[in-house]
Order: sequence, then C-alpha cells, then structure tokens
Amino acid sequence: MRRILLTLVLLVLVVALIVPAQAQSASIHLALGNPTAATSDTTHPNNFLIVRPQYALAYHNDDGIPRWVSWHLELADLGPAPRCDCFKIDTLLPANWNRVSQSDYTGSGFDRGHMTPSEDRTATDADNEATFLMTNIIPQQPAANRGPWARLEDSSRTLTPDSSTPALALNELYIVSGPVGNLGRLASGNVRIPAASWKAELVLPVGENDLERITTATRLIAIRIPNNSVVLQSDAWEQYRTSVDAIEAELSLDGSNIDLFNALSPKIQRVLEARIDSGPLPYTLTLLAGDQQQAAVNSPFGTPLSVEVRDANHQPLSAVTVVFAALGSSADAWLTGNDTQLSVTTDANGRASVMATAIGAPGSYRVEASIDGVYTPVVFTLTNTSPQIQVYLPLVIRP
Ligand code: MN
Ligand code: MN
Repeated sequence: MRRILLTLVLLVLVVALIVPAQAQSASIHLALGNPTAATSDTTHPNNFLIVRPQYALAYHNDDGIPRWVSWHLELADLGPAPRCDCFKIDTLLPANWNRVSQSDYTGSGFDRGHMTPSEDRTATDADNEATFLMTNIIPQQPAANRGPWARLEDSSRTLTPDSSTPALALNELYIVSGPVGNLGRLASGNVRIPAASWKAELVLPVGENDLERITTATRLIAIRIPNNSVVLQSDAWEQYRTSVDAIEAELSLDGSNIDLFNALSPKIQRVLEARIDSGPLPYTLTLLAGDQQQAAVNSPFGTPLSVEVRDANHQPLSAVTVVFAALGSSADAWLTGNDTQLSVTTDANGRASVMATAIGAPGSYRVEASIDGVYTPVVFTLTNTSPQIQVYLPLVIRP
C-alpha cells in the first residue's frame, strides 16, 4: 500500500513537472518556433519566456523590452471588446526585476508601441487587456507607430486577394515582431530605445495542420521601420519591406542569436526568408513535365522539371524568376549538378526548367517550383532508388 502511495505521489510530481512545459511548447503562438530558445528559467532574465493565451514573448530584462513577440491571428481573435488603454506592469516578471511601467515612457516623445496590437485581440476584455502589459510594448517613434506600422497591422486583418472579402475570412497569420538596434535609453534608464522595429508575417489560407501546409511558395511579409524622423506618418508600409534573412542578420549584429520560423525545415526557411514580399501577383505557375520520376542514386532523372508562367490573360511571361528547391531529409537531389536550390528565368515562351540528379539515400522527396508573390507552388515528387543489382547466372555449358 505504501509503495502504491509513493508511486502515486511520484506520478503526480512527474505530471506536474511535465504538463506546464508541454502547455508552453503546445502554444499555437510558438508553433513556428521559439526564435531565441527562450525559457521560463529566471536565471536567464534576458531571454525570459512568457506564454499567454494571447501571445508568446521573450523578455530582455536589462533592456526593459521584449526581444520578440509571436502570435497567431485568425478571425476568431476579433470581437466586440473595446480598446482598454490600460497599460500596466507585467506581474509575471519576478518582483525584483526590471518591471517597466507606462510612466517610464511619459514625456519621452516615444509611443508605447504594441507588438501584438490591441486590435488583434478583441474577442474578450481579458484578451485586449493582455496586449497592454508593458512586456508587449517597445518605444516607437509616433509617426512610424501611427503610420506605416499601423497600416500593416490594419491590412493584416484584411489581407485577402479581394478587398471586398470580410477581414481574415480567407487567411490566418503567424506573426513575429520585435526591436533591433540601440538609440540609447528612455530618461528613467529602464528602457532601451531600439533603432528600428521589425515584423514578419506568414500568411496561410484558413485550414488545419498549418505546419504541413507551409511550402516554399507561402507568402511571408517582412518589414523593418526605422525609429527616427525619416519615417513619415503618411508612408506606405510596403516601402519598408525587407527579407527575414536581413532581419536575422541585423539582429545577429546586435548579439541576438535569433532564428525566426525555426520550426520550418531549413530548406523551406532558406527560400521563404530570402524573399522580399511583392504582394499577390496575378501569375499562374503550371506544370509542363517531370512531376513524378524515379532514378537510381547518383543518376540523373530522365525528364527536366519544367514549368510555365502565364499572366492573368493566360499569356506566357518571360523574364520571371522561378525558384526550384529540393526538400526532404531522408533523400535529396542536385539541381543541374550543383545545388539543392536554383533560380531560373523564364524564356520567351514563359518556360523554366532544370535537370535533377538523385543523390543521398533512397527515398522520396519533393522539389517545389515557386515565384515571388505566387502562392501556389508546382510540386515534383522524385524518388531515389538503390542502384539495381544485376545478377549474372553462371553459364552452364552442356556437353
Ligand atoms: Mn502600435
Ligand atoms: Mn529562420
């Protein structure tokens, strides 16, 4: 009986230890990754993970601002809750930490700039109030915060191919934003003033199993807006577009080891994060040849992987860049003999092709062909097979 009791107590302890860790990693706001591997370990106050039902973030205690804030946005997040305008300290921070309050910003000339916007969390009063916790706030130059930054926030809630469609009815978004660089500190000394604000938004059609639906053709919008008077409130957000690679590179200069969207395969990240968004373009990408092939390891596939680009009137488009990317870990391919990713410009007939060679281990994998701004890729399924073993039967000479 005692042993059973002891076992039960141990079991409860184990469950109590495991469940909070799982609850955090299971947050939809971290589904595409935890960019700095932040944890709730208070011995690392400059990479301190806070997960709420409304968003997840990593707090930088010395700087009094988040390193990044990450949230999923869908139609169900929008509702009748009014903007509470109720800035307050975040009591999830230990009491002896740098608990920034709204008065740190008073008279500074900087806005208390939301990372997860108030307007993205209006389903309930509690949801809206969570966006006013000071760990979700950075100093933003007013013209930037109220101009292009707000304009991307607004258009993200109406990001549809057709502006007459109700907000977010067709899309769901995974958004990460944060500060970069250093312009000094607010007068209280508690808060670093970043040199710019950045944001990356991955756009998916509404659906299930989001991680599996992300391809090299998924739309990824990234912006970086300087925190200075060069930015005008009338500026369009589009003029501040950049790549996630550029954001990651600038953050690494800051000494911030950050990898956005690190739950995606390195090869998908490589294509998406190099791309600068150019908006939804009226192209179609169609398959010409080579979509299902087999080849022995170290041999070329027989047919080129071939696609055609046409405009909205179905006319072939030349000089469009098509990216072919070989994906998969158990097996792989070289494209035209040298790389797993290749950019090819369409010819006068709107066509782009590459030859693929089977390398790596036997198995199936895919090559995706995609264009900037075209959010349906062409997918080729290629299979590496083992070299065939040829069996020579002994030749028996009958007398
Ligand atoms: Mn704002
Ligand atoms: Mn990344």
